[in-house]
Amino acid sequence: MGKLNFKISEFIESDVAKKNSINNFPDIQSLDNILNLIVFCMQPIRDLINAPVIITSGYRSASVNKLVLGANNSQHLTGQAADFIVKGMSPSEIIAVIKNSKIEFDQLINEYNRWVHVSYNSVKNRNQILKIL
Ligand SMILES: [Zn+2]
Repeated sequence: MGKLNFKISEFIESDVAKKNSINNFPDIQSLDNILNLIVFCMQPIRDLINAPVIITSGYRSASVNKLVLGANNSQHLTGQAADFIVKGMSPSEIIAVIKNSKIEFDQLINEYNRWVHVSYNSVKNRNQILKIL
């Protein structure tokens, strides 16, 4: 196994939390989920794309999720999901590359053609690809 390109802090630090003085530190179960998301999903994506992967939203506490108008059942609330961008690649290009790999994921969503949402569930992955416009 190669090196990890991600720090857990990249999945926890939130501008919205900072601006609103909200504690966005995950509970232990969510930390475990973030670890699984990094090891089994984000790092394989990073290795596949071979370019910097910028996390724009990772774990969200309930207060942060409300402020960003996240879904009530969002996997961001449990550390199972992250939104990301790759400079020079559109979300549909990123999704096409992941789709043609053997990387496991729960959901892979092109959100508004602006970023990719990916989730990983260590119990069962649905391998769903969706688009929200
Ligand atoms: Zn998301």
